Amino acid sequence: MIEWLFFLLPLAAASGWWAAKRSAERAAKTSGPDPAYFHGLNYLLDEQPDKAIEVFLQLADDGETAEIQLALGGLFRRRGEVDRAIRMHQGLIAQSRLAPSLRALALYELGQDYLQAGLLDRAEALFQELVTLEAYSARALEGLLTIYQQEREWEQCIAVARKLQACTGKPMGAEIAHYHCELAEAAWRRGDEAAGEKALADALSSDPHCTRALLLQVHRSLKQHQPQTALALLRREDADALGFLSEILPALAACYGGRPAEEWIAALRQLDDGSGNTALRLYLGEALKRAAGPEAAADLLMAHLHRYADLVVMEPLLRLAEQETQEPRLRQYLRTLARAIHHVQAQQPRYRCEHCGFQGHHLHWQCPGCRHWGSMRPPSPPKMDASA
Ligand SMILES: [Zn+2]
Repeated sequence: MIEWLFFLLPLAAASGWWAAKRSAERAAKTSGPDPAYFHGLNYLLDEQPDKAIEVFLQLADDGETAEIQLALGGLFRRRGEVDRAIRMHQGLIAQSRLAPSLRALALYELGQDYLQAGLLDRAEALFQELVTLEAYSARALEGLLTIYQQEREWEQCIAVARKLQACTGKPMGAEIAHYHCELAEAAWRRGDEAAGEKALADALSSDPHCTRALLLQVHRSLKQHQPQTALALLRREDADALGFLSEILPALAACYGGRPAEEWIAALRQLDDGSGNTALRLYLGEALKRAAGPEAAADLLMAHLHRYADLVVMEPLLRLAEQETQEPRLRQYLRTLARAIHHVQAQQPRYRCEHCGFQGHHLHWQCPGCRHWGSMRPPSPPKMDASA
């Protein structure tokens, strides 16, 4: 129930402000704030939010209580009662004597209501009006950004993000780079090579360290059969591309398909930064198995497992052990273990948001949980305790 206290605190504060104001006005006649305010507070402290809302609603019936109505409207929206929030904010805006600053705030709150209700066109119109009025501009621009991201209107996102940067001073280069990357991918999907290259260049000029843009460059190099360029890009230290090797290795492997195994192994070794990358170990293990035999592959996988508790690498090691033994019963044990481990690791999320902890099997450049850009990445395997 503690969340009610959190939701209702702004309401209590607005009511307190109003009660103090009224008490000052009536100081000659009364000895303190309106008793109804304390009744409302008591209900809050007794964890009876509905009764508290009832009391504050009665207080809000007074024409001077725009702040309480604003707080109540916000509360209704957070409770999921969007229709009620919309009615309260619309009623407030309709008041002819409302101060311009409170009217602007009510417009912003109504925009938030529409946004939550999925009425994006109406929310967009209100936020644009606020930007024109130069009232609550930063919050209105953030609202517009949310809308355009939902609608995947990336050109609009770029324009709004630039305005937001100018308005608040908050750097938006990283987000703008992602919008350009979205445009690049869309251009390539429809076969417009020139627009794709232009958008990619724009992404890198917005954020020269953008990992996603760098990975797009790597994919372009591989498509043009330039694996050395791809390797050089992946090894760049100013972007975290090696953390996303699992996204690149299938295409890189295809590029080395017709080449000698030694070249492929040397390429993989070039990408080893000592961080225990699971995908790299799997590809290197497979390459060594073919070129040098199962023992070489097993040595590599065992060295990895000495340092990391990595289920993904455990499975191929068990498969190698199963092939190595002639003992039927032992083979059966190893096969059963490998199958069980395969099942367990297939359930594990492949990506995790470093900002909110959201986990999933697919890479989302904008986290579906917290809407942050570039915060999802493959989790590192846990390190083994050296003393164990
Ligand atoms: Zn997140």
